[in-house]
Amino acid sequence: MPVPDLIIRGRKVVLPDGVAACSVHVRDGKIVALDDYDHGAFDCEIVEARGESIVMPGLVDTHVHINSPGRTEWEGFQSATLAAAAGGVTTLIDMPLNSIPPTTTLSGLKTKVETATNNCFVDVGFWGGVVPGNTSELANMLDTGVVGFKCFLVPSGVDEFPHVTEADLREAMPVLTELDALLIVHAELPGPIKETSNSSDDYQTFLASRPCAAENEAIELMIRLSREFGTRVHIVHLSSAEAVPMLRAAQSAGVQITAETCPHYLHFAAEKIPEGATEFKCCPPIRENENREALWQGLASGVIDFIVSDHSPCPGEMKLRESGDFMKAWGGIASLQLRLPVVWTEARRRGHSLLDVTKWLCANPSKQVALQSRKGAIAVGGDADFVIWNPDEEFTVDASTLLHRHKITPYAGETLQGVVEKTFLRGRKIYDRGQFSGNPLGQMLI
Ligand SMILES: [Zn+2]
Repeated sequence: MPVPDLIIRGRKVVLPDGVAACSVHVRDGKIVALDDYDHGAFDCEIVEARGESIVMPGLVDTHVHINSPGRTEWEGFQSATLAAAAGGVTTLIDMPLNSIPPTTTLSGLKTKVETATNNCFVDVGFWGGVVPGNTSELANMLDTGVVGFKCFLVPSGVDEFPHVTEADLREAMPVLTELDALLIVHAELPGPIKETSNSSDDYQTFLASRPCAAENEAIELMIRLSREFGTRVHIVHLSSAEAVPMLRAAQSAGVQITAETCPHYLHFAAEKIPEGATEFKCCPPIRENENREALWQGLASGVIDFIVSDHSPCPGEMKLRESGDFMKAWGGIASLQLRLPVVWTEARRRGHSLLDVTKWLCANPSKQVALQSRKGAIAVGGDADFVIWNPDEEFTVDASTLLHRHKITPYAGETLQGVVEKTFLRGRKIYDRGQFSGNPLGQMLI
């Protein structure tokens, strides 16, 4: 057994097949052995998870908008990855839009990687984008290291990342299949969406303008195209629980389609969103309580694979909080730092286990982007990425403690369980109860 340079141990270590007392031996940033909790004496640093605290794999968040370069005033690699480290996230994948240039060409990808290099406190990978007319760029971007490609079926909110039609997908999908690349889809179709130039501070008016039908029809289309072209497809930020049976049927029939949902769809309910509270706006929208419970069932049954943040910040003024205009405010909720306590609080309430939560926050997102040999599990050979956290400690969200650039959040004032104590990235402590250590050590996952 190689001599470790670090041992992390606790009474509750979340391993792939169960929670156990364990010593995790680390050498040169890798997990080299799993041993009994109190076995042996080694001449190295020992980090102890005290009391009830849990040692879990570092979280993997495959849906994060960092918006840099070009819209760095919305977010940036340093601020976003500090928030990630404080939230126990050690791996994140950046979305291809809201930055300028967007990641839809090889040159755009290179610009993005240059911007991120030496500016990240956690490991960062990149999605590419499928937009009308960029099919010839896909192979090059994949060769250079994007983990897959995102497209929109409705306007994305920014002009430089146009949405695709079925005709565009018929051009791109055979190429994606040939490359064995994953296509991730913002699944709302324009048809059922009621565009209006009217203002409204009433959440129900906004919700009615983006009905479940927009998602359901988009998912129907993607199931049909995935079946026809054999492309691996993933539905991002599923909000409409009505689509769960159709996804289940497609999966059972062998269609390669998966889905994720987000903390805000699992925590909030439309009935309780106050007038003018535009911090709750995102697309697709947060729906009713009944829908929320059906999403939880979709997770429990495995139809929905995992939960990622869709961290999508913007400058506070774009939220139009003063007028409270839901129809014109920017849609997006920034929750990179809060995903663990939000999901844990809600999951525990519904009887889900630590293993379930680890699957949803670590292992399954890691598999989505083919990082499972390195990330998302405490297993020999993997990166020594850990979060140590207290599952019973409660806190009330104070927006000023969030580290991403703009603090406006619907979670302000919410009482949550689960406090992150320490975060380790490849064997190095990067966060310790409010303190960060040193330089941005995050690597580019390309
Ligand atoms: Zn997004």
